[in-house]
Amino acid sequence: MSLLVVGTVALDSVETPFGRVEDALGGTASYFAFAARHFADTKIVGVVGEDFPQEYLALFRQGNIDVAGLQRLSGKTFRWSGYYDYDLNTAHTLDTQLNVLLDFHPKLPGDYRQSELVFLGNIDPALQLDVLSQTSPKLTVLDSMNFWIERKREELTRVIEKVDIVLLNEAEVRQYAQTYNLLAAARRILDLGPRALIIKKGEYGAMMVDRNVDVFMAPAFPLESLKDPTGAGDSFAGGFLGHLAGTRDFSAAGIRKAMIYGSVVASFTVEDFSINRLLSVTREEIAGRYNDLKRLTFLDHYCKHADSCERLELAWA
Ligand code: AMP
Repeated sequence: MSLLVVGTVALDSVETPFGRVEDALGGTASYFAFAARHFADTKIVGVVGEDFPQEYLALFRQGNIDVAGLQRLSGKTFRWSGYYDYDLNTAHTLDTQLNVLLDFHPKLPGDYRQSELVFLGNIDPALQLDVLSQTSPKLTVLDSMNFWIERKREELTRVIEKVDIVLLNEAEVRQYAQTYNLLAAARRILDLGPRALIIKKGEYGAMMVDRNVDVFMAPAFPLESLKDPTGAGDSFAGGFLGHLAGTRDFSAAGIRKAMIYGSVVASFTVEDFSINRLLSVTREEIAGRYNDLKRLTFLDHYCKHADSCERLELAWA
């Protein structure tokens, strides 16, 4: 199934307690595409400036990501800089430079318009609407953030009214719905039209609420080593939609399974800066962590191998 993403392609400068990078490849569309490509062909709609390094562009091509919809305009690439304290769930923005994003008018190549799954990644909601008007997808997922909730609330509401699934972190859900309780906030957002809301809760995983207020929790994978949480949300979306594009299973179980794959892929992203870990991760590693995550949450007695059963029993003996 064809998968399209619109979002930022950025040069990120990020500092965490575990290191820092300058002008690293980032942006919501980049993280999404490098996550989704492990499951399905992915087309990218976005814009970069003259300063965007050729070697970054080459990474997209080597990763089999279709960049026919990635425009290069005169001017500078979108830049984001931020930092994280030991609370890695909260990104602190230092600077956002929209640059070429201000002159961007997406014009989708012919084959892009047939895309069946569309991810409206975090970007100006006016651009999200523009892309949506050029496609007629089977399933549309929307992401956004405080920056746009504060500046373009009305346009964002227009997009929310048109999509199937909204994906926001818990602070953004509360900020948009203007209420603390997440289920009450979910009701307000779902009343606008979407079929489901997925609330990202950083290291605590993701929670889906549907119109019947049925809830599903996908835990985050517990990691011993983590360097940079930037892009975790977009990678979750990439694993989620990529898996759906690969399986075409839109049943409730299929959607839930896709959320677990979203969690798995995001867990690799945060192990290194930028998209580095998404470049090196293998299908076997993804499958392995999927099985581990299942084992972590299964209530009945469940062991992958006889020796791990034995280890488990010994630990509790
Ligand atoms: P996340 O998955 O939420 O951690 O997204 C991280 C990416 O969002 C970074 O690589 C940034 O380049 C990008 N970003 C930061 N601020 C904005 C913004 N206002 N609009 C679009 N993308 C942004």
